[in-house]
Amino acid sequence: MKPGRIPCLIIGCNRTAAEAKYPPNTRIICGKCWRLAEKYLRRRIRHIERLGRKMGIDWDTVEWDDAPPGPKRRVLWLHSKCFDLIVKSATERKVGITA
Ligand SMILES: [Zn+2]
Repeated sequence: MKPGRIPCLIIGCNRTAAEAKYPPNTRIICGKCWRLAEKYLRRRIRHIERLGRKMGIDWDTVEWDDAPPGPKRRVLWLHSKCFDLIVKSATERKVGITA
C-alpha cells in the first residue's frame, strides 16, 4: 500500500482512502463494502454519530483514544463497537456466510 493511505477493513477489498482526510487512528470501510453491512447497523452508527454531534463531538477531528471518562467516551466506545459489528456484517456478506 502506498504511504498516506489507509485500507478498507473488509477482507479481499483492496480499496484505500487518503489518511489525511481522517483523524489519526480512524478505521475505514469503503463505500462499496459499507453497503454490504446490515442496514440496521448502518442506521445505528448514524444515530450514534448524531448523538455525538449533539454532545459536541466533531467526527471529522475526533481523537479516538483521548476522551476523558464520561458520556463522550461512552459514545466513542459505542461507535467503535457498532463499527466492529459493521465490519463483521459486511465481511460475512462478502464471503457468503449470509445470503
Ligand atoms: Zn471495501
